[in-house]
Amino acid sequence: MAKCKRCGIKTVLSEADIERMVGEVRSMPRIRLTDEETYEKRLTVCRSCEKLEYGSTCALCGCVMQVRALMRDGHCPFPRKPKW
Ligand code: SF4
Repeated sequence: MAKCKRCGIKTVLSEADIERMVGEVRSMPRIRLTDEETYEKRLTVCRSCEKLEYGSTCALCGCVMQVRALMRDGHCPFPRKPKW
């Protein structure tokens, strides 16, 4: 199984992997989450982005987009014109 050299996370995540990660972040009391409408809009943008790899990883920052998009203060790292 291929893993990211930097963080050790599997390169290709299953839906179960992603759901578990999202659930863990949602349960962290100190993490400020965005609202559901914004979250869904961000996911839609990411899913059509040419920088999305394996259906879950942003090639620009290496983040799992389903997790990054959850963050209230999160932003898209797309150069010059962030997509969200
Ligand atoms: S965070 Fe931005 S650059 Fe990364 S996949 Fe989503 S839309 Fe694309």
